[in-house]
Amino acid sequence: MSYSKETVKIAKEKLSDRRMSAIHYADLRREQLYKKIPRISEIESELSEIGAKVSLCILKGDRGSEEVAALSQRSLKLQEEENNLLYQHGSSPEALLPHFTCEKCCDTGYLEFEGKTVLCDCYKKLLTDTACEQLSAVSPLKLSTFEAFKLDKYSSYPDAQGKIPRDRMSKIFNYCRNYADSFSPNAKSILMRGATGLGKTHLSLAIANDLLKKGFSVVYVSAPDIIHKLEKEHFSGDYTGEEDSFKTLIDCDLLIVDDLGTEFKTPFSVSSMYNIFNTRILVDKPMIMNTNLSVSDLEETYSQRFVSRVMGSCDKLDFIGTDLRA
Ligand SMILES: [Zn+2]
Repeated sequence: MSYSKETVKIAKEKLSDRRMSAIHYADLRREQLYKKIPRISEIESELSEIGAKVSLCILKGDRGSEEVAALSQRSLKLQEEENNLLYQHGSSPEALLPHFTCEKCCDTGYLEFEGKTVLCDCYKKLLTDTACEQLSAVSPLKLSTFEAFKLDKYSSYPDAQGKIPRDRMSKIFNYCRNYADSFSPNAKSILMRGATGLGKTHLSLAIANDLLKKGFSVVYVSAPDIIHKLEKEHFSGDYTGEEDSFKTLIDCDLLIVDDLGTEFKTPFSVSSMYNIFNTRILVDKPMIMNTNLSVSDLEETYSQRFVSRVMGSCDKLDFIGTDLRA
């Protein structure tokens, strides 16, 4: 997968921050231990002197010499003494080492594999997450939570159709919570329908929030924004081809499209939406689509065939009540 320069830059910065902070905290622990157990400091400097001498011997080609054997012996003794001292003071040898987020690559992002340098899985994950974040309209910090969802704002009296909004919304709330709890990359898609201001965005962002915490990649976009971005990438004369929003929209574990049907309708917008949805349906990856349009309005914007294909692939949640923001 190709990533934009910006995505790679941000992911590299995050990786470097992880590494630097692991080293920084190891240095702090080391300083404290030197103060508490001064002998540790002496041992460490003798160990590094031994290391330098051994390297010199190896460079000179006398790897098997008596001197090297004596130095190695001394080094082992010192390490044993150091370990004992650390344990006696309620610490451990690990305290002197950096605690990297990824032990495989020590937060460098790269590994040696069969004589080649390859990307570590942790760096691949960071690149995907960063690409999703870059494409998403909101940063994860601003996401809504289930805890902040207020059911008591919905009326407990029947509406004109005899339906009680609070009961309906309580079912929808439980459905969404359960969806987030039991989410898998092949989960079902959801179509959230209903007027503006009834909590569709709030609940879809609450799902996103939970999934991001579990390590899934989530992209949250509004339909007009994503069409605008795809148009820019597609039609821009100086487009370098390095941005690949479409790929990120397909690759993420969950795609949330808000305000479906409010994008400016052009042949490009219709075919882009069709491509995104159809590709995700084909590879069995879930989406959450939010719309305040009726089925017939959606059919008018896209096509009957497209709408029935999308509708047939998802659970439908009909939000009712009065605009919570009013
Ligand atoms: Zn790694």
